[in-house]
Amino acid sequence: MRCPFCGAQDTKVIDSRLANEGGQVRRRRECLSCSERFTTYETAELNLPRVVKSDGKREPFDIEKLRRGMLHALEKRPVETDRVEDAINRIRHKLLAQGEREIESRRLGDWVMDELHALDHVAYIRFASVYLSFEDVDAFRELIERLEKDLTPEMRKSQMPLITE
Ligand SMILES: [Zn+2]
Repeated sequence: MRCPFCGAQDTKVIDSRLANEGGQVRRRRECLSCSERFTTYETAELNLPRVVKSDGKREPFDIEKLRRGMLHALEKRPVETDRVEDAINRIRHKLLAQGEREIESRRLGDWVMDELHALDHVAYIRFASVYLSFEDVDAFRELIERLEKDLTPEMRKSQMPLITE
């Protein structure tokens, strides 16, 4: 590929390694003309299903959009970036594994909710409040019940003084 600095055609690979759990090859290249170095990522092109929105519109699955949505929910939360990337990779893997050409946005949203639920409860609530728009009362009740189930008796007890004082 052309050097992004000077446009020369000849570049050589000086390092090559697997990235993203082996799903990508990261190559470090050097331009033979200007000696600048740059990195390329190589990923297999797979057909990800199209997303069917609630109004019936179809759009291509956009992993950046998914990442933005999750990072927005996780803003200022103490969650490591690697764990977020792992979650995104799991969702991407599920999409590929289901082998369908289309997926309902609702189902995709549920997967994101599952991942956020495991990562951080505040992010989970933030995402849910946008995603469910809190119009769906039953869905919201389920969400709260799910969070309550996560509280162990010890956790409940530790919160008691705050309530009774
Ligand atoms: Zn160059």
